[in-house]
Amino acid sequence: MSRVINFSAGPAALPLEVLERAKSDIPDWQGSGMSVMEVSHRSKAFIAVAEEAEADLRDLMGIPDDYAVMFLQGGATQQFALLPMNLAQPDQTVDYLLTGSWSKKAFKEASAVRKAQIAADGVDSNYTDVPEQSAWKLDSNAAYFHYTPNETIGGVEIHEPPQAGDVPLIADMSSTILSRPIDVSKFGAIYAGAQKNIGPAGLTLVIMRRDLLERAPAGLPNILKYKAHAEGGSMLNTPPTFAWYLAGLVFKWLKEQGGVTAIGEQNKQKATMLYKAIDDSAFYANPVAKPYRSWMNIPFTLATPELDGAFLAQAETAGLMNLKGHRSVGGMRASIYNVMNVAGVQTLIDFMAEFERTNG
Ligand code: PMP
Repeated sequence: MSRVINFSAGPAALPLEVLERAKSDIPDWQGSGMSVMEVSHRSKAFIAVAEEAEADLRDLMGIPDDYAVMFLQGGATQQFALLPMNLAQPDQTVDYLLTGSWSKKAFKEASAVRKAQIAADGVDSNYTDVPEQSAWKLDSNAAYFHYTPNETIGGVEIHEPPQAGDVPLIADMSSTILSRPIDVSKFGAIYAGAQKNIGPAGLTLVIMRRDLLERAPAGLPNILKYKAHAEGGSMLNTPPTFAWYLAGLVFKWLKEQGGVTAIGEQNKQKATMLYKAIDDSAFYANPVAKPYRSWMNIPFTLATPELDGAFLAQAETAGLMNLKGHRSVGGMRASIYNVMNVAGVQTLIDFMAEFERTNG
């Protein structure tokens, strides 16, 4: 078997140990003669998997008891719409910080259902920098303040939770969840599509302070209501059982790595190494303002875009996959989530140096 070094932005690499475990579990899970995909989500065996995954996640992230954890579907994109529908009354406003493609999408969806306001917009820097917090226009009457701690496409990360006053802070952590310790109690809600640091696509995590569940306006159908999902144990309808099971295995794996503190140190080290290699070279460049450079998604350009094709082809030959940048920004992007180890990043750095030597 040969595994590549996978820099995919998402769906992203999963731990080999988790894949091997799932492989051996599939035909005959827990001696049942069935796979986890072939049993009822209401069976005792599956409920145990679901509860253990939640307990492990609570443990990893230090999620306080007054927060509900939901294992939903619809992706982060569905939460772009459900959050304003649930957390704001029809006549209330909601505040958004715009730092790149994903926060703009979240803002656009919110605008379809509520009066969404822009607290600050990084457009002047072409989303390579974040406006100073002192210049943000925060409305103390807004139902919440939404931001995207890590912009997966632009590689812009806000490393500390911003101050939103008494207004609940809502974070789209799709591409940064579980990458380092965070203080969950600073947030009203955290949400993330699973397909980067959690597990396979099809599962979406929502962590929400329980008092916010009560805000849902009258008349919202149950399936769109966080309160109903929380009360129903995320089983209002059939959940994505296999993805939930696999996420549970990833949580166990992460605990074995030393949890978010140890993985956070490794993530910082990986990012520091790669940015240093980029900054030390006159051939590669990353456009993001230094305080906001992402630990997870590192876009970079070559001296000339004419070399992009050769870079990608030679990288693939060397087993370095999925380095092509997002179509909206071009160049390259190395997504180095929790599963990428230091050796993988070093292999990329060595490849980049050799490519520069032969093409620079
Ligand atoms: N937000 C961010 C920050 C993302 O990176 C992504 C997906 N890459 C999304 C939202 C959309 O997630 P989904 O495809 O799960 O709807």
